[in-house]
Amino acid sequence: TLGDRQGRPDTVVEIAGVRIGGDEPPVLIAGPCSVESRDQIFESARAVREAGGLMLRGGCFKPRTLPYDFQGLGFEGLAMMHEAGRQNGLPIVTEVVHPKDVEAIAREADVLQIGARNMQNFELLKEVGKSHAAVLLKRGMSSSIDEWLAAAEYVLAGGNERVILCERGIRTFETATRNTLDLSSVVVARERTHLPVIVDPSHAAGLRRWVPALAKAAIAAGAHGLIVEAHPDPDHALSDGPQSLTWDQLNELAREIGVAPAVA
Ligand code: PEP
Ligand code: MN
Repeated sequence: TLGDRQGRPDTVVEIAGVRIGGDEPPVLIAGPCSVESRDQIFESARAVREAGGLMLRGGCFKPRTLPYDFQGLGFEGLAMMHEAGRQNGLPIVTEVVHPKDVEAIAREADVLQIGARNMQNFELLKEVGKSHAAVLLKRGMSSSIDEWLAAAEYVLAGGNERVILCERGIRTFETATRNTLDLSSVVVARERTHLPVIVDPSHAAGLRRWVPALAKAAIAAGAHGLIVEAHPDPDHALSDGPQSLTWDQLNELAREIGVAPAVA
């Protein structure tokens, strides 16, 4: 299959000048769980750039457990994030939840995120497979590594070669963390495929004070990058506040993993 290692060298995925995979230095992607307002996403973009982040994340179409929870600002939020990213030289990563929206979102987003809940939404995978935008494929919370790689194959088979795998924690008997970060999957996926593999420590930890250790462990395990939630005011975030880093914490993490810009 297209994703299989089969002796192939690591694929480096390039996104508007940002290179992820192979021997490239780890890439930090950061930003809020959800785009909430113009001010919020512009402040986030500036802070992510200043920390040394190379891409901006933010959800506009949110897959929430309850229908009463904030569902995202949709295309209005996407337009704001597009502008915030451009103003700060950061390509943007945003989730797509419906096949019908793929084309329109790909006009403004550099990377289409397939969320854990949609990892086996095959019609969605086929649609992003036809897109010119890169794809960040989260591992489903109850999916095996085989199923994750098979999902990636749907995108590759559609002709889209720019696929990035993302481990974000899985469901186990353990309930102390939000999800159990399976760092073995980074090691296994890197051996079995040539695709870049990154880690989302935020949705695994569930609590911001646990994020830095998991992030550093991910890099040590061979992750090609991190996607981390951070927010101007985490305690008042409309989604995933408890796991969102403050800018101070994001800056410190960036220093610890060696991606912070040198200070004069
Ligand atoms: C997110 O990135 O905010 C998100 C919903 O992630 P996941 O699909 O991994 O739960
Ligand atoms: Mn989130």
